[in-house]
Amino acid sequence: MDSLVIEGCAVATVDGTAAGVITAADTGAEYESGHLVLQDGRITAVGAGPAPTVAGARVVDGGGCLATPGLIGTHHHLFQGLTRGQAQDGSLVRWLATLYPQWARLDPDRHGAAARAGLATLALSGCSAIADHHYLFPRGGGDLLAAGVGAARQIGLRLHACRGSLDIGASTGGLPPDDVTEDRDEILAATERAIDSFHDDGPGAMTRVAVAPCAPFTVSEQLMRESAELARRKGVRLHTHLAETRDEHDFCQERFGCTPAEYLESLGWLGGDVWVAHGVHLDRVGITRLGKTGTGVAHCPTSNARLGAGIAPVPELLAARAPVGLGVDGAAANDNGGLAAEMRQSLLAARARQGATALSARQALAVATMGGARCLGRQDEIGSLEVGKQADVALWRLDDLGHSPIADPVWALVCGPPARLELLTVAGLPVVEGGQLRTADPAALAREVRDAARALMAASASRR
Ligand SMILES: [Zn+2]
Repeated sequence: MDSLVIEGCAVATVDGTAAGVITAADTGAEYESGHLVLQDGRITAVGAGPAPTVAGARVVDGGGCLATPGLIGTHHHLFQGLTRGQAQDGSLVRWLATLYPQWARLDPDRHGAAARAGLATLALSGCSAIADHHYLFPRGGGDLLAAGVGAARQIGLRLHACRGSLDIGASTGGLPPDDVTEDRDEILAATERAIDSFHDDGPGAMTRVAVAPCAPFTVSEQLMRESAELARRKGVRLHTHLAETRDEHDFCQERFGCTPAEYLESLGWLGGDVWVAHGVHLDRVGITRLGKTGTGVAHCPTSNARLGAGIAPVPELLAARAPVGLGVDGAAANDNGGLAAEMRQSLLAARARQGATALSARQALAVATMGGARCLGRQDEIGSLEVGKQADVALWRLDDLGHSPIADPVWALVCGPPARLELLTVAGLPVVEGGQLRTADPAALAREVRDAARALMAASASRR
């Protein structure tokens, strides 16, 4: 039996939020000094004081640390790691127009390099499960989804591969170049093949697939409807972008005479099997509908700030009981790439918008963990430290210069500088230890992604 004991650490279980109530005051049991026992990929004990004796177990001294659930990323575009640092002052539309011609030169090797680098960065920031929304499939560009799945297996994170799509190109009034769009029937067939090849429905799955057209305003209405039908026939989840910018809201009013959320609902896209990215420009009715239908929102506060999109109404969404998780969004719209930093950003953004009681540190941690699990439909498996759940655990060092003398470990983690990760386990297996990635060499990953980014840039320049 493979056993690991962590003891002597503070523990924030986040076990009080499974029903979807993330309040400022109480997000679950906490222990000032407690323990965890991980056996065969699951949590078999969690509580106060020293751990029970477990024969043959490896024991980790958690003194000075806080144990939390592994963080869950609910919206990312790993391929965008190839184009970080560009279009620095562009709004969403200008940013996209700059980057699309480069992305059109994506291939499996370049995507693999970006995905490994992005996943390693996520792991080092305490992330144990990630939803990668991949909507860019250049014609003849090879099996990009397989490259992403391979990268996640190598780095050791749980992956929700969201098979995205674009079916409206420049020649028919869309923004993306035609050579990154696909025919609707091709998209649906390729998405079904991806589900059949990679989706694992079982408990503790390391790979799941979701159906994820890019956004309701960048793909056809038929593709949105048929994507929903496909997902429901195959029993997988649905993901897309929604209400990211004010422009999208105005476009929707002009074109359809309704809000983006109302339009999405008219397509059959609100429900407990759906989560959307951003939700910045939602009105009161939209927030209520998301909450009532159990539609999740991936909150990406750094990306929203970087692109000047606005601040999502997270306190209102939580009050409406909508599942809310955190996302980096693409590293090209964030340039940090770590997930832990989004907890701090979400707290500060909410307070900048609505005052000092808008979001507590415990709510930010709960959004980053159980909120994310609910978005991915995995609240019974991950997102909190409870007996029987998957052994996805982050152990953060909080007795160093950056965090001393903050007495509240949750506040120190969320609001202090990025904490050193002493341990990250996924299904009980160490992915990070002592601040170091165990599954790959970060220097080699950095070299690979630099080379891949240069090759992408050169290929796109030669095609102009
Ligand atoms: Zn996005």
